[in-house]
Amino acid sequence: MSDHKINEQWHFDTNAVRAGSLHTEFGENSEAMFLTSSFVFESAAQAAARFGGQEPGNIYARFTNPSVTMFQDRLAALEGAEFCVATSSGMSAILACVMGLCSAGDHIVASRSVFGTTVQLFGNILKRWGLETTFVSLTDPAEWEAAIKPNTKLFFVETPSNPLTEICDISLLADLAHRHNAKLVVDNCFCSPALQQPIHLGADIVVHSATKYIDGQGRCLGGAVLGKKDVLEPVYGFLRTAGPSMSAFNAWVFLKGLETLPLRMEAHSRNALTLAQWLEAQPQVARVYYPGLPSHPQHDLAKKQQKAGGGIVAFDLKGGKHAAWKLIDATQLLSITANLGDAKTTITHPATTTHSRVTAEARAAAGIGDGLVRIAVGLENVEDIQRDLERGLRS
Ligand SMILES: *Cc1c(COP(=O)(O)O)cnc(C)c1O
Repeated sequence: MSDHKINEQWHFDTNAVRAGSLHTEFGENSEAMFLTSSFVFESAAQAAARFGGQEPGNIYARFTNPSVTMFQDRLAALEGAEFCVATSSGMSAILACVMGLCSAGDHIVASRSVFGTTVQLFGNILKRWGLETTFVSLTDPAEWEAAIKPNTKLFFVETPSNPLTEICDISLLADLAHRHNAKLVVDNCFCSPALQQPIHLGADIVVHSATKYIDGQGRCLGGAVLGKKDVLEPVYGFLRTAGPSMSAFNAWVFLKGLETLPLRMEAHSRNALTLAQWLEAQPQVARVYYPGLPSHPQHDLAKKQQKAGGGIVAFDLKGGKHAAWKLIDATQLLSITANLGDAKTTITHPATTTHSRVTAEARAAAGIGDGLVRIAVGLENVEDIQRDLERGLRS
């Protein structure tokens, strides 16, 4: 197996196609998929050296697998990270990050506007194991500062948030965390490294649900934790012991997904901006949430922090839940599903799906009204997406 390629001079799109590639003696051009759970040794002595850590190399796929290694090295090159730990899902990436970096009795400050399952993980499950989380407003740094305790280990954010695409200032929160010996973790799922590189902005750790834009075609579950090698050593230690490791098959799919990531994110963003502008002009629409629109409250910060607005557009319909459901049910092209990051455009009603377990008051406080619709804009022609929505808007 020849050494994987990472060249400091390569541009982002070249890294997306080439970084991390490993080649076998067979001379394959496309990366190989290594569907093997274990690796054989040349001798008992070599087995001992591998297990003892004196000789680098693969032992067992819960620890490492060449397909997974290629994915990790490629994603690390794209995020500007020293090290990457691939995981079986986005949620197991978040779990591995916390399990590696926190202990019972520690404290986390997290944005209230994070993925619903992340709220469940922090607020219910990890709480039972002695980890306390304080939830604060994504956009108000004063709340973050006020929530800090002597035992605060992590700040956790998603930016842009789901579904309202609110944005936080990554550099500012990183500085605040560092002043208090805490680390900033950014879930970079919505932007992907093609649009935003939190580590370059001062974040310590990036987590991903590779299930979304990294796959890009809605096929596999996966995740990743990225950052400095010494910081992530315990995260990798948790992974190889507890076992939420990425499968070689999924790693191969994601590796191929990364090759087109910059092109896809540009196209998702272009379609989403056109759709957001069009929605803003519709009389039935009360408000559109999209970072690429000048009407977005943090449009200037978005322009500074992100290369483009991304693929998620949310909007409030004046007719409330009735109008939202009518619009959704009138679509023929769009997929009614809560997933995102797919080539296929998806449409969802957050109040009765992704946020249905949140109380009505909490939903209202978070700005998720009954008339809110979220669209994860795909790669179809945007005119066809508009025509599909027009039918429901007019009815
Ligand atoms: C989907 C998602 C996750 C969880 O990822 P899975 O791969 O479904 O486990 C975490 N964060 C964000 C922002 C997501 O959209």
